[in-house]
Amino acid sequence: MNLGETGMAFEIWVMANEPLVRIGFFVAVFALVALWETASPRRALLLSRKQRWTANLGLVLLNTVVVRWVFPVAAVGMAALAAERGWGLLNLYAVPFWLAVPLAVVAMDFAIWLQHVMVHAVPALWRLHRVHHADVDYDLTTGARFHPLEIVLSMGIKFATIALLGAPVLAVLVFEVLLSACAMFNHGNIRLPARVDRVLRWFMVTPDMHRVHHSVEDDESNSNFGFNLTWWDRLFGTYREQPRAGQRGMTIGIRDHTDPHEVARLPGLLSLPFKGPITDYAINRRPYSAKALADAPVFKSQPQQESK
Ligand SMILES: [Zn+2]
Ligand SMILES: [Zn+2]
Repeated sequence: MNLGETGMAFEIWVMANEPLVRIGFFVAVFALVALWETASPRRALLLSRKQRWTANLGLVLLNTVVVRWVFPVAAVGMAALAAERGWGLLNLYAVPFWLAVPLAVVAMDFAIWLQHVMVHAVPALWRLHRVHHADVDYDLTTGARFHPLEIVLSMGIKFATIALLGAPVLAVLVFEVLLSACAMFNHGNIRLPARVDRVLRWFMVTPDMHRVHHSVEDDESNSNFGFNLTWWDRLFGTYREQPRAGQRGMTIGIRDHTDPHEVARLPGLLSLPFKGPITDYAINRRPYSAKALADAPVFKSQPQQESK
């Protein structure tokens, strides 16, 4: 069997066993982080695990069904199609397999970072994404709770990214397993020694780093957008070391949405994007302080409008 045939055989195996590989990793990492959370929790939880886990994992189950129903193939299927048709940069330039896999994994991580910035910046998309942020506690199940419409949007962007890159099947599988494992780890209500946290942060998003992103404070939640690699936040100026109130003192969630019926039950989560006036949050309507407004030359000559 030559290298090409081995590659083909491997791809066929991946396509056939992809759900099993992903579920296997999911269950193993879930069990590990759940045990860690019990043994060494970072913060005391406000709501019971039973209530939040029912809602969060219920959403995961619903999303699995929705994705199977909406998309005819999985992401690895899209990668196989791109390879077959010669779509995407890595196929166009015949990049060797050993280089194409890490390149594609890193590029897909950058794409998901950009997507995360976008869902915070565009008001209508923030409405979907705030389901992820409305959790008043922060644990490994927070990492998997997304509104089904955001999941469908994510899948669409992922398919387009795979086609544009020409990402190899193996790269897509590695990326999806890594993303799922890292999301559970960095949403973990777990304690890491400060030195380990500091070293890991040079390349990998730690629980303390991503927790800042779940703060109720707008400026804090508009930072640390990374899920796997920390490089994008450092490179593009959205990196923040710690929350002002400290890891244990900070408030997690979104303002004005703290009712457990709304933020910790499935019907509440599903209807959350459609609630409230459209002006209640947008990146272009942040409540700047009076001093910031007075200091900004552009506002000085104009009558100031009251922002609601
Ligand atoms: Zn976010
Ligand atoms: Zn998160």
